[in-house]
Parts: sequence; structure tokens; C-alpha cells
Amino acid sequence: MARKAELTEEQWRERLTPAQYEVLRRAGTEPPGTGEYVYNKADGSYRCAGCGEMLFSSGTKFESGTGWPSFTEPETAAAVELKSDVAHGMTRTEVLCRNCGGHLGHVFPDGPGPEGQRYCINSLSLDFEPTP
Ligand code: FE
Repeated sequence: MARKAELTEEQWRERLTPAQYEVLRRAGTEPPGTGEYVYNKADGSYRCAGCGEMLFSSGTKFESGTGWPSFTEPETAAAVELKSDVAHGMTRTEVLCRNCGGHLGHVFPDGPGPEGQRYCINSLSLDFEPTP
């Protein structure tokens, strides 16, 4: 499936910081507790740091105790793509930005909301836009 934001690896390297590139384009993980949005409680929108697509809203963010920003659901189901990930000897569900294919994090079935989902997302994959 064609993505709307399709860039070459060189263009991604120019657009992103090295740390953002490692997470978004190489499926890296920021060390827990280090991300700038882990404890952010402000109202606003979390957009993809790669392409600007609206991904998560502050209203669904909760304190998971994991050290990563955690959400009960994405802004819309269509905003993200879920993919089986068997790396590192675990079977997990990877969460990607549907618009640019950037790696966001993983989703686990132990969340507190009605859907029981915990979207565990790297701060480096997100850009926070406070509600004016
Ligand atoms: Fe994106």
C-alpha cells in the first residue's frame, strides 16, 4: 500500500534527529523514563514526529508506570497500522504511523480503558501540540 509520506532514507535522516531516526525508521526504543512526554499531562495533540499526522490525544493518555507515554487508543483506528513483531524473542504487536510507516511503539492487551489496550509509544516518535 502506498504511503502518503514516502521519503528516501537520506531525506528521513535530514528531517529527523539521529535519535528520532533510530526509533521511527529503525524501530528503536528510547530508554524508559527518558522521553520528553512520559509525564506530560497537558491537554493537546500528539502528532507523528516524522510526518505530522495526528496520532493520539491527551484525553486518552494515562500513567502506566512503564516510563513511556501510554494511551488507551489512537486518535482514529486509521491513523495507525498494527503489525506482528517477533523481534527480540517476543511476540508483540508493533504500532506504526499509517501515513509514513514510522515506528511508534507497541500495543499490549493490558490497558485500563474499555478496549483494554495500552499503546506504549516512544516520545521520540511524537510531537506534542498543546491545545491553545
Ligand atoms: Fe508519520
